[in-house]
Amino acid sequence: MPEDEFSSRLLEWHQRHGRHDLPWQQEINPYRVWVSEIMLQQTQVATVIPYYERFMQQFPDLLTLANAKLDTVLHLWTGLGYYARARNLHRAARLVRDKYAGHFPQTLEQVMALPGIGRSTAAAILTISQHQHHAILDGNVKRVLSRFYAVAGWPGHKQVETRLWQYAEALTPATHTAQYTQAIMDLGATLCTRGKPRCPDCPVADACQAHLTNSVAMYPGKKPKKTLPVRATLMLLLSNEHDEVFLQQRPPTGLWGGLWSLPEADCALRKASLKKWCCAQLQFALHDMQIWPGLRHSFSHFHLDITPVHIRGEFRDRAIMDSADTLWYNTRQPEALGLATPVKNLLAIFQKNLTGDRT
Ligand code: SF4
Repeated sequence: MPEDEFSSRLLEWHQRHGRHDLPWQQEINPYRVWVSEIMLQQTQVATVIPYYERFMQQFPDLLTLANAKLDTVLHLWTGLGYYARARNLHRAARLVRDKYAGHFPQTLEQVMALPGIGRSTAAAILTISQHQHHAILDGNVKRVLSRFYAVAGWPGHKQVETRLWQYAEALTPATHTAQYTQAIMDLGATLCTRGKPRCPDCPVADACQAHLTNSVAMYPGKKPKKTLPVRATLMLLLSNEHDEVFLQQRPPTGLWGGLWSLPEADCALRKASLKKWCCAQLQFALHDMQIWPGLRHSFSHFHLDITPVHIRGEFRDRAIMDSADTLWYNTRQPEALGLATPVKNLLAIFQKNLTGDRT
């Protein structure tokens, strides 16, 4: 099938069957498209929509985001995961404010130089919001092209990716690029899905190599398997006489960077050891403790097995509470803070137990 035939079929299909009412398809500008593209990385559309709407309500434009505190941004991101995305978004907004006087840069190179923006995301922003001509290659497009051209191998491998970029560039039409970009992303998201592609409804099925050879399930090639390592930690819910929980803010970079978290003890799960650890590390006198059922939180590169321990007691040295990166968290009137997902869940259990205690 000639390239222009592929794109014109997709455009026609998109006009009739594509999605036109997503929140980021309204009042289109580079900022709104950029935020949506970042949220949609690794996250489904249905999950993103409420987060996107709340984000836009709080930060309707780039300058509002740039001038906001990172904590407020992370709070709105709580539950969406991959927090580096939020930190980069905030950092990039400040860069645009300071380097480009708040005007979103206009060349692919300038946009790609911003933190957290790769080639495909930069291309999508400039194509959709500025009607520039660039090819994109996000996860959906990789899947469509791997199948259409029967490209073997995992798209994360450089050679496979280079080949897919060549196809993506050849297929991107010189006109109606914005609509075509939406069309191929929609095709991947709604018809050429990972699990059950709806090939009979696909506008290019008669030329799709994977479909014609009945081998759709083979494409794209799977990521070579590796077993993720498992790490274990003790998360301490230190509570005081007002039933508030002690939180510490994590350093700005690294795992859960900038989020508020629970202290993690690297000692044995015994009362004597925990008592010693709390005293030495936090000047906290342990009165009694209760071990909660464990939970697992999985990152892309390891599993974290968490053993939560609820400890009642008091600080011997009040100075620790004067530090800007510590606070007592009241689960009855929760503050707007960026919390790591397992911490948020543990605080919810804490609150539920309190309610249960009273009934
Ligand atoms: S025919 Fe099926 S596998 Fe091929 S592009 Fe269309 S939906 Fe994807």
